[in-house]
Amino acid sequence: MFELQDAFARKFHYLRLSVTDVCNFKCQYCLPDGYRPDGRKSFLTLDEIRRLTRVFAAMGTNKVRITGGEPSLRKDFTAIIETVAATPGIRKVAMTTNGYRMARQVADWRRAGLSAINVSVDSLDPRMFHQITGENRFQEVMAGIDAAFAAGFEQVKVNTVLMRGLNDGELGRFLGWIKDNPIQLRFIELMQTGEMDELFSRHHVRGALIKEQLLRAGWQQKVRAHNDGPAEVFWHPDYVGEIGLIMPYAKDFCASCNRLRVSSLGKLHLCLFGDYGVELRDLLAEDGQHAALQLRLREALADKKATHFLHQGQTGMTPHLASIGG
Ligand code: SAM
Ligand code: SF4
Repeated sequence: MFELQDAFARKFHYLRLSVTDVCNFKCQYCLPDGYRPDGRKSFLTLDEIRRLTRVFAAMGTNKVRITGGEPSLRKDFTAIIETVAATPGIRKVAMTTNGYRMARQVADWRRAGLSAINVSVDSLDPRMFHQITGENRFQEVMAGIDAAFAAGFEQVKVNTVLMRGLNDGELGRFLGWIKDNPIQLRFIELMQTGEMDELFSRHHVRGALIKEQLLRAGWQQKVRAHNDGPAEVFWHPDYVGEIGLIMPYAKDFCASCNRLRVSSLGKLHLCLFGDYGVELRDLLAEDGQHAALQLRLREALADKKATHFLHQGQTGMTPHLASIGG
């Protein structure tokens, strides 16, 4: 039975599950100084992930995205995919990755049950890629995308955070890349988070500017299906690939919210920019807490707000997106 619904009749079939905060990249907009280890943290174990996924699936979740930090840094990452994919009711297992392990491991992940991949590529210029991500790994990431197609993925989604003065002049190059490649390229507007200094005002570009350019060049907006998330998707008859725009500052962005998040420490986050996380971990340590977990999720959802408060400059408790997975 479907129970994950809020007071605004939004249904949450989709869970974003962070499995680690750790990352080996230093993206300017996320972890500019790199990951700072905190010895006290212990991330959700495989058993906890199994119990958590079961309870969400029993309440109607059918898609799980595994994210982080960099999820592929977990030594048991392939086992995590297997565990989530084996949960009755879960039809789609996706991941978001910086791509650095894809070339070596994507075939294993697919065999384990991974059905969709989003990989982050902020620039097609290797030097700019290095500048934005802090890592000189452009070629590895591109080899990873090739390996994903070779492993049998029919489409790969690519996330690109738009940044004024850095990659905002690359639209033509990106379009050339997806002309013959089945890639859905998703431009994400830079979002302001708690630890961000003046980076946001320096680099934020409105996705609407890209939308205007696309429409002028003959791209057409796809009609949104009932359960689609907040991305606006565009297609063009001359291109194999598609463009997605994720514009969290646009009007009505939150109306199509279809996802819930659980952090790698086992807290439920109703919104990426919320003020608090709801503790679930005390109920994940052993089997037998299924009903109590369901009750906690139901009670938490009753409190989900209609929108984020980013326009008022309130970024919530999230210091950076590596902490709850973006
Ligand atoms: N490490 C993986 C990666 O980079 O793909 C997964 C986690 S990362 C937090 C998930 C996505 O959030 C990435 O595509 C990243 O570019 C995006 N992201 C991180 N911080 C952001 C910000 N401040 N604004 C917009 N997107 C952001
Ligand atoms: Fe790491 Fe992803 Fe954050 Fe970049 S965006 S620092 S790859 S978690």
